[in-house]
Amino acid sequence: MRVEARASAQSRNEALFARAKGVLVGGVSSPVRSFSAVGGPPRFIRNASGAELTDKEGGTYLDFVLSWGAVILGHAHPAVVAAVQDAAARGTTYGAPTESEVALAEAIRKDMHSVERLRFVNSGTEAAMSALRVARGFTGRDRVIMFEGCYHGHADPFLTKAGSGVAAAGLPKSAGVPAGASRDTTVLPFNDEAAIEAAFRQAGESIAAVIVEPIPANMGVVLPRRGFLQRLRELCDEHGSLLIFDEVVTGYRVGRGGAQGHLKIQPDLTCLGKVVGGGLPAAAFGGRREVMDKLAPLGPVYQAGTLAGNPLAMAAGLATLRALTPAAYERLDAAASRLENALNGAAVAAGVPLTTARAGAMVGFHLRRGPVSNFADARAADLDGYPRLFHALLGRGIYFPPSPLEALFVSLAHGGPAMAKAERAVVDAFATLGRRVQ
Ligand code: PMP
Repeated sequence: MRVEARASAQSRNEALFARAKGVLVGGVSSPVRSFSAVGGPPRFIRNASGAELTDKEGGTYLDFVLSWGAVILGHAHPAVVAAVQDAAARGTTYGAPTESEVALAEAIRKDMHSVERLRFVNSGTEAAMSALRVARGFTGRDRVIMFEGCYHGHADPFLTKAGSGVAAAGLPKSAGVPAGASRDTTVLPFNDEAAIEAAFRQAGESIAAVIVEPIPANMGVVLPRRGFLQRLRELCDEHGSLLIFDEVVTGYRVGRGGAQGHLKIQPDLTCLGKVVGGGLPAAAFGGRREVMDKLAPLGPVYQAGTLAGNPLAMAAGLATLRALTPAAYERLDAAASRLENALNGAAVAAGVPLTTARAGAMVGFHLRRGPVSNFADARAADLDGYPRLFHALLGRGIYFPPSPLEALFVSLAHGGPAMAKAERAVVDAFATLGRRVQ
């Protein structure tokens, strides 16, 4: 019976996917969702609650994607739903200032002392794009240094050797990006102090900014080596360049103060997104006051947005931050740590080589022996084995990212019963992978 039910769910997802492909490019609104890296039709989600997604056919999945890290309290958390309903009843957008955006900005500044001034935008892409623009405007320089396998959204200057969906699509760089747009981008290996020192020696005076995910989550999760980010800080200071931390994923996920609080390194500028909008489209960039004050209306760097600081998103963000108490972070840590242990235990039992990494409420794993310290290491994992693992898990009601170079996320709804289910499924799924390898 269960097999039949699953087969029909599959075929109905397939039918909807076929219909979607008639109107949406590739059937989706964002490429990784299409399952092209793992095969099969994507699950079309009807609703979500707590830790669980329900697809069009009623199939339920324990969700470790959580809208790519945006959902940290669990889906449809009552406090977020109530805040959004209340805000919506008072109008969905005004294109004028509101108290809620002031309150959310104040909350962020309290948690991240480096963010003296900030601006809200609608996506992480906009946050990184605008942070770079203001860094260029402030320094009067053009060059930006980024790291292979990091992802900073899809603005032109960042679409070279990026991680996440760009890597999953097998694109070393996107078509449609004029040579001029990426001419001033230097891409270096992550965790490589010698490479960044050489870049500064060669062209230090032309470097506007170094942008980095302080704990990268777009080539799986890769931890910074001790001293690496500190070295970036020093080099930027020596050469008058700005250090931009892209904390779109890590902000409020590895702890209340983001990776910068966790690692005790202050960037000049910070990009936020995902959690900060409580699952609605909001993001932000901010940092040192003298840099941010270069933005219009105070300064000559232009940046704007019709829906920026949207009242529904601000309400969702505020409700989310309010719920993220120290006790909440302890629960998130416990769930993430349990997931990491489950993966390691299952891999050992199945004889599958595995390297895991965890920072707060996010976990990464690579199907290979470690260490994994950069994009080349990440890509050398058994990427071909991932689709099999993914489908073995999906068939057991566990939703992992449909691409091997992503992070796993947990929410406050990932309590004991959910994690026990995940543990059992992970053991079985790794066993199928073990059989393939042997
Ligand atoms: N920066 C990082 C670190 C990200 O992970 C992402 C998206 N996953 C972005 C920026 C872009 O955010 P968005 O998809 O909201 O444009």
